[in-house]
Amino acid sequence: MTPHIVQLAIGPMQNFAYLLADLQHHVAAVIDPGWEAEQLHRAATGIACTVTQILLTHTHFDHMDAVTALQELTHAPVFVHETERFRVNTAGPCHALHDGQQFQIGTLSVEVLHTPGHSPGGVSFLTANTCFTGDTLFVDGCGRVDLPGSDPHAMFRSLRRLAALPAGTIIYPGHDYGPTPTSTIGAQKERNPYLRAETEAEFFHNRVE
Ligand SMILES: [Zn+2]
Repeated sequence: MTPHIVQLAIGPMQNFAYLLADLQHHVAAVIDPGWEAEQLHRAATGIACTVTQILLTHTHFDHMDAVTALQELTHAPVFVHETERFRVNTAGPCHALHDGQQFQIGTLSVEVLHTPGHSPGGVSFLTANTCFTGDTLFVDGCGRVDLPGSDPHAMFRSLRRLAALPAGTIIYPGHDYGPTPTSTIGAQKERNPYLRAETEAEFFHNRVE
């Protein structure tokens, strides 16, 4: 089953939210509803899908502030890494995720990769040849590691893990900070200095430049 992906630029901070849909079974997950709950809900109904899950790559406000409003519209449960579960106030059920966990959106299989560094409970969602990388990996960049809860050493390890995905894996980042809205792991390993860095020394050298 090929995932159907809708990338939505929302809010004033260049955020991307996503629909990850199984069109055949008319179900979709919303990833990172930071803003514009009604717009996200309309986008799902526009492709004839019911929102069955709300997935958070992490719990910074620009990725989750529309959770309550979206939950009121959809009654879908929220899923977030166990480390950041306590940061989420929802109008309905909220479930904790852990590394390696697998779940279904219709017939789509999704795997949770714990990719901390930008925040302690950062995750990436992997399905087929597609990876939603949140604020861990951007096109030509990576997330900030100078925030409360950030850990630059963990970020380096998380990026090495993403770098090990197949080169053709398409990445969908949490912000529109790059020259293109998406890229591939292969292309990023060539031109993203943070993903190219194979040692912590290289990684930290890049970060201070
Ligand atoms: Zn963030």
